[in-house]
Amino acid sequence: MKYRIFSAFVAVLMLSPMLVSCFSSPFMHHGFFAMDTYVTVDARTSDSGLLKDVENLVYEDERLFSRTFAGTKLYELNEKGEYDVGEETARIISTALEICEATDGAFNPCMGSLIELWDIKSENPRVPTDSEISSLLGTVDSSLVKVSGSTVTIPEGMKIDLGGIAKGCSAEKVIGLLRARGVSDALVGFGGSIACIGSPSDGETWSVGIRNPFDTGSVVGTLKVTDCIISVSGSYERYFEKDGKRYHHILDPKTGKPSESDIESVAVISKSGAVSDALSTALFVMGFEEALGLYKGGIYDFEAVFVMKNRDIVVTRGLEGAFTKDDGYKAKVTYR
Ligand code: AMP
Ligand code: MG
Repeated sequence: MKYRIFSAFVAVLMLSPMLVSCFSSPFMHHGFFAMDTYVTVDARTSDSGLLKDVENLVYEDERLFSRTFAGTKLYELNEKGEYDVGEETARIISTALEICEATDGAFNPCMGSLIELWDIKSENPRVPTDSEISSLLGTVDSSLVKVSGSTVTIPEGMKIDLGGIAKGCSAEKVIGLLRARGVSDALVGFGGSIACIGSPSDGETWSVGIRNPFDTGSVVGTLKVTDCIISVSGSYERYFEKDGKRYHHILDPKTGKPSESDIESVAVISKSGAVSDALSTALFVMGFEEALGLYKGGIYDFEAVFVMKNRDIVVTRGLEGAFTKDDGYKAKVTYR
């Protein structure tokens, strides 16, 4: 019998502290910094070269999807206004634009200029003035983006930012690579996005903890799932505080300010990394009733766990039996 303790570096979701494995071929662990987070890979393989290949794939993705790395195609597009960004980046931009439309603009990949203005990640972030914000609100109109083959055109002042979708996409690609190389059991952590396939051990299911947004050292509950990507968006992930107020990293495209909905955090579970990641951001902005409307509308195949501002948990129907509230988290759980 072999005990495995998985990395606690996963920024948003935590695995149950201990998972038991009793296989002859053990899991190999690999971790590295990329995409502004600590990426972890736990895969049942004895091929350490594969884990290095995963790392290189993620570095490549970072260059495909990053807005801030000088010289990347997205960077050039944002500088020049029209650029051949390559097939893959163009495809993700198109997917992001589709999700933008489906979420009535709650997920908007065209907010790079506002994200830059807020610069939440900088050492000395500041609250921009209302006039600075309103002067950039006109730069986020996603209907003005044109994608023609791999060439993308954006209007003056607009910058594309794929931070709300890139990690989910890359996590799905990593799973694709692992599968193609014969791995059937793995768990990949990308900060706010986790992808899992197979199982940790015979007869077991992956157990993914949903971090308590009110006390990030604990969980609100766990999800028993596999073959999916789980992404979480919450105001506790990245923020700064000024005069007792928290300014977090998810902006409401309508106001240009950190979104203020009735949701404290939301986890979205889907087979698609793009859907999981982009929708977690979108639902957080939309607020609960609108988010539930999108779920019931059935355009996208996903399930969700909402932790509401009043602490209650709302879980979508498809997760009945998969979600268990943690005994230490006192709140009502309802299924909708
Ligand atoms: P996530 O942690 O997946 O919710 O993504 C948050 C990141 O997405 C931010 O750090 C920004 O780069 C970007 N972002 C912020 N607000 C939005 C929004 N409303 N729609 C799309 N991307 C956003
Ligand atoms: Mg997201």
